Amino acid sequence: MTNLRFLHIFVTLCLLAIGANAFSINRIENRAADTSCAKTPNTSNPDDDSNNKNVKINYSTQEGETCTQEQKGEIETEFRNAIAMVNSAKADWSKDGYEDIFFAKTAQKMPKYKETVHDTLTRITEMLDGTVNAKDYTLTVTCAGKAKSCAKFVAFMKQADKTHGTLNVCDHFFDKNIDRKQERYVDTTDNRLEQCENGSLDLRDAQRSRAGVLVHESIHTSYAMGGPDPGEDIAYGLDAARLLAMGTFDRRCGNGPAMRALTSNKPLCGKTPQDPKTEDGLCKSELCMQNPDSWSFVATGIWFSEQCKKKIQLPQEDGGKTNAGISSKGKPNDNSAESHCNGYSTGVADFPFD
Ligand SMILES: [Zn+2]
Repeated sequence: MTNLRFLHIFVTLCLLAIGANAFSINRIENRAADTSCAKTPNTSNPDDDSNNKNVKINYSTQEGETCTQEQKGEIETEFRNAIAMVNSAKADWSKDGYEDIFFAKTAQKMPKYKETVHDTLTRITEMLDGTVNAKDYTLTVTCAGKAKSCAKFVAFMKQADKTHGTLNVCDHFFDKNIDRKQERYVDTTDNRLEQCENGSLDLRDAQRSRAGVLVHESIHTSYAMGGPDPGEDIAYGLDAARLLAMGTFDRRCGNGPAMRALTSNKPLCGKTPQDPKTEDGLCKSELCMQNPDSWSFVATGIWFSEQCKKKIQLPQEDGGKTNAGISSKGKPNDNSAESHCNGYSTGVADFPFD
């Protein structure tokens, strides 16, 4: 009941805010940042300077949403990790093959694809290091830890207009007692790096790092996207993001409707997604370009592989399910029949991880 009430309020607020977009992200249990074993950011790419320079975060001073000094320290650590991550990805976006898993061939064949990727990643670093605030966009960081959306999420981005975004970091972002049995949780980037030392880190874990969250959130701004619209959560989680790139992700099937509920039931795919009354459908594979998780998985894959000096593998349980979502009955272009979902699987339900 609480959830329904929350959803109702959330949707209402979204409708009331003219032109506003509210996005959600990662919820759940975290362990404290252990700065004593903080890893040195990778220094093997050409953008080293921007990895190491100070980040200038524009914190809110509004009562009820200010961050404590301790929180600021943890946030800044993760902003730096995220910058290093994005710079690694920018240096060689195709490295280790994550691009081909999460970015559709249709997208890769688009004119200026490489340039778009490069520019998007550059703009993300500008958002995170504070360069953006001297330009035509302002990013404000708030710590309204008990904001309504924090009931489910670890952090969320709101873009009230095309020149101002607000990243709210929830109390869950700073949680110190992580329950690893939970399917959904986010941990500090340092703890994730420790996991690669003991060999237990897979790509899903890697992306569930605070730095991975920040990359995801950045895509929820028109600034990062370099256009009028921010990215949207078309496909949450590793399996859905893979299906999206394959052109077989259907928001009507499997976990799709639940994902849709998390994005205010806005239809993002299908034949006429511009009509709000039209139900969702099969998503065009090139929509990966607007899907925050698609970016976040590639960036985390590349960076953690570099840091761990070993390619981060896909989760074991997904290893043999590269055909998740491809129904023996359904056809990718069949976007009308009710029976479309027969035999369809959207894989592991790892949303709303954000
Ligand atoms: Zn999101």
